[in-house]
Amino acid sequence: MNGQTDSHPRDDGLAKEMARALTSWFERSARALPWRHQPDPYRVWVAEVMLQQTTVAACIPRFERFIRRFPDIRSLASAPLEEVLAEWEGLGYYTRARNLWRAAGMVLEEYGGRLPSDLESLRRLPGIGPYTAGAIRSIAFDLPAGMVDANIRRVLGRVCGIRGAGAEAEREVRQMCFSVSSAGSPRTVNQALMELGSLVCLPRSPLCGECPLEDLCRARREQSFDCWHGSVPQASRTVRVEEVCVTASMDGLWLVSRPCDGRWRGMWEFPRARVEAGSSPDFEARALLERDFGLQPSGLQQTGSLRYRVTVHDTRLHVFRAWLPQPPSSAVREWRLCTPAELADVPLPNPMRRIARSLGAEGRDRLSLSVEKESAGA
Ligand code: SF4
Repeated sequence: MNGQTDSHPRDDGLAKEMARALTSWFERSARALPWRHQPDPYRVWVAEVMLQQTTVAACIPRFERFIRRFPDIRSLASAPLEEVLAEWEGLGYYTRARNLWRAAGMVLEEYGGRLPSDLESLRRLPGIGPYTAGAIRSIAFDLPAGMVDANIRRVLGRVCGIRGAGAEAEREVRQMCFSVSSAGSPRTVNQALMELGSLVCLPRSPLCGECPLEDLCRARREQSFDCWHGSVPQASRTVRVEEVCVTASMDGLWLVSRPCDGRWRGMWEFPRARVEAGSSPDFEARALLERDFGLQPSGLQQTGSLRYRVTVHDTRLHVFRAWLPQPPSSAVREWRLCTPAELADVPLPNPMRRIARSLGAEGRDRLSLSVEKESAGA
């Protein structure tokens, strides 16, 4: 069984019929995606990591660029982390890039640069959870795997009539996925399930008339689509956050490093701070310069604001420009000065890149930021 231990056939007859229908549909309808025509383990791995929290359309050009820059595990493992983060810039959720880089180093050192195929070894690698391990096993090695993402959960929940939102329902979906993938070519069947979930079995209006599983599907039979595992609407949760951010120039633009733990570590940003309840952005911008760098600005002006969203946090960032009488003599965080031209080579999170782009060649704000669009996956 090569390390896959989590599943048993649930319903052999249904699994075989599903595998057959999915295979012929996928052979007719599969999209030509760059990671599909040459499914070697490294490319599959990079694609699966990139596709977490990034759309297929956004991934296509970035995948090709990433593979050109780092064509194999060795080139990725031997690149400086800062270069990998710079290449990842704009895709967001940078922990993915950091884990990919660390895992590439481990694969080079422990497996001679060849990605292992057994579940246990794959799961030891940073950033490879049950879903990604299943995707690599099935797509790259054509081995059966019970893998569950939102698309597969919804399709199998509906077709097999799996109710509930808990761990038992999740286990049933995983077992069914394993059974269906075992009943055909795991590479084809699992990709077909993913494709069906993203193109046909849509969350709100499934296109049952175009679905190869129409005759087998319980949700279709009962004309009831929202009561199954993976389809129950989730209550949305949003946490609103206010922050200030200061672009300050004194012989260059002033950047600080991100903390060495948490999101965006290894990257740089303009100094910023939370606006506490009852406080004001102007007060917090001054307090930030005073507290972290021991400086009072000789001038401070709000140049605009932008919004970005990461997971449930919906953040409004008030952007200020500060004029400084002198550079800081000491600071609580690592900092550096950059010219506006040098900013292009520094890894910046998305919101910071948007601010950097609004600065003119002299580091002066060329235009007022008033961007109110959300930036998912910043
Ligand atoms: S028949 Fe409809 S509900 Fe069932 S899997 Fe296909 S698209 Fe989804």
